[in-house]
Amino acid sequence: MNIEAMPRVELRRVIEGLGAIIPVEKDISQKQQEKQTSFPNHPDQSGMIQYKNTHPKFFPPPADIAENQDKGNKVKQQSLTKAFAQIVIHQESAKKINTLSELFQKYEDCQRCALGKTRKNLVFGRGLSNATVMFLGEGPGADEDAQGEPFVGRAGRLLTKMISALGIERSDVYITNIVKCRPPENRNPTPAEISCCLPIIKQQIKILNPKLIVTLGNIPTKTLIPELPGITKARGKIQQYENWTVLPTFHPSYLLRNRSAMPLAWEDFKKIPELAFNN
Ligand code: SF4
Repeated sequence: MNIEAMPRVELRRVIEGLGAIIPVEKDISQKQQEKQTSFPNHPDQSGMIQYKNTHPKFFPPPADIAENQDKGNKVKQQSLTKAFAQIVIHQESAKKINTLSELFQKYEDCQRCALGKTRKNLVFGRGLSNATVMFLGEGPGADEDAQGEPFVGRAGRLLTKMISALGIERSDVYITNIVKCRPPENRNPTPAEISCCLPIIKQQIKILNPKLIVTLGNIPTKTLIPELPGITKARGKIQQYENWTVLPTFHPSYLLRNRSAMPLAWEDFKKIPELAFNN
């Protein structure tokens, strides 16, 4: 029986049917009744046998037994409701996710790590849903957290300029980060936070299936391909992450602090059109 594919009405019927044939919780009253009926017909002190007919037909259960019977039924009902709820949750999570908007709906209230508690907005990603190039940063900053959009602060404006300089519109690419919630004080995300968030970016990559992933800085580069050296050595060299081509380069925030690295980053960027668009 495929429980996951079963419609809810039918599922509830099956669970309730199971409840009727499998004692989910043994009624408290049943135990009490067993106690009552378990007295053998035995001789009393005078040697006379005392016959006890405890069949409920002849002796209706006293008030406390009826009350316990009621409690037992409630426990049973609660257990069935709980079982039903658990299977429905399982059904929901087993639903196949095919689009970025379905993925967003799944994680929009995510609290898998502590960053969920301090964020203003979850910054899922922005861009074309069938983009051939994905830009991958490390995490949202204050501006991104406030607006719910990646790369909208100073570093984001620089990234937009560099993309435009290639003759590509920002709206024609997809931009996101390794972690979707802002690390406080703009610190780097911790390895634990990255690993909590990793299933989201992995699914984003699978759904988008870009021809090229441009990793911006050390954290996204080494998250996808841990064995690579630091970004200064790894930048500009084509890499492979599972089925996808990866081009590591500097993060725009680094370029704002180190203008001398700009020509190197631009060398890397110039590879993007050919790798992502074959032109
Ligand atoms: S950073 Fe990722 S894992 Fe952590 S709460 Fe946000 S979405 Fe969830």
